Amino acid sequence: MTTSPLVSFSDGNTIPQLGYGVWQVEDDVAEDVVGRAFKAGYRHIDTAKIYGNEAGVGRAIANSGLDHDDIFITTKLWNADQGYESTLAAFEESMERLGLETLDLYLIHWLQPKQDKYVDTWKALIELQKRGRVKSIGVSNFTVEGLERIVAETGVTPVINQVELHPFFNQSELRAYHAEKGIRTEAWSPLGQGGELLQNETIKAIADKHGATPAQVVIAWHLAIGNVVIPKSVTESRIVENYAALDVSLDAADVEAINALDNGGRIGADPAVSDFA
Ligand code: NAD
Repeated sequence: MTTSPLVSFSDGNTIPQLGYGVWQVEDDVAEDVVGRAFKAGYRHIDTAKIYGNEAGVGRAIANSGLDHDDIFITTKLWNADQGYESTLAAFEESMERLGLETLDLYLIHWLQPKQDKYVDTWKALIELQKRGRVKSIGVSNFTVEGLERIVAETGVTPVINQVELHPFFNQSELRAYHAEKGIRTEAWSPLGQGGELLQNETIKAIADKHGATPAQVVIAWHLAIGNVVIPKSVTESRIVENYAALDVSLDAADVEAINALDNGGRIGADPAVSDFA
């Protein structure tokens, strides 16, 4: 079985480039499907407090027989918990649900520009890393402005920014900024949530050429352009299929053709203007 490549962070740690995301997966289902994902070869799981399935992910880890050193777990600090002390408390609750002593990667889930607590929240993540509770710290749904501000105020650069990214919304400018600053780009909704993207004629033609599926081609594109990528499925055959995208290698012309599909088709909220309750 091919195993995911590791990509390095600016703090010296590494992350498996292909992981498994569990948004919109019920807690009891998460226990089952994360177990299946481990069997399929995934060693990186992406959850969040707000997904309500950290406990299920924790049970899957405990049941897997795998050492924590061999797997990589990300969770995220929810918006309502932003602020210094509340972040420290929310972190402990997440760790209890996950059943872990240390976390591999903790992310601020959304910028929340109007709430404007993200600098203090970032200071709490820095403290958790200093205490050895979390190996790497990063952000999600951050704009360039938000990134610049936390770095200016703390001197600590996040290792990664997890943002909406798929061929219809490929974030080329933000990716270039990340590359310049040594920040990894992580793609959420990498398959465009399984919608129109997987019916696209260009994607289907490239899939036919490689004897692959459209989902595999999209995942292979993410890998080729250097993204960390966390597709979700609760269907066993697709969990396996998506991991097998590691065996699909696109040529430069395929990558260019997929790069050209960008149509500004954002699915989710715009972090620059969205605050969630
Ligand atoms: P996705 O782009 O991974 O699409 C998942 C959907 O695509 C599935 O529900 C299924 O309908 C379909 N699909 C999956 N595999 C397929 C296959 N092989 N063939 C055909 N269809 C297939 O969408 P997502 O769940 O939104 O994103 C993935 C992960 O990203 C989430 O689970 C979560 O971990 C993370 N995420 C983070 C944020 C954030 O704000 N940080 C937001 C959304 C998602």
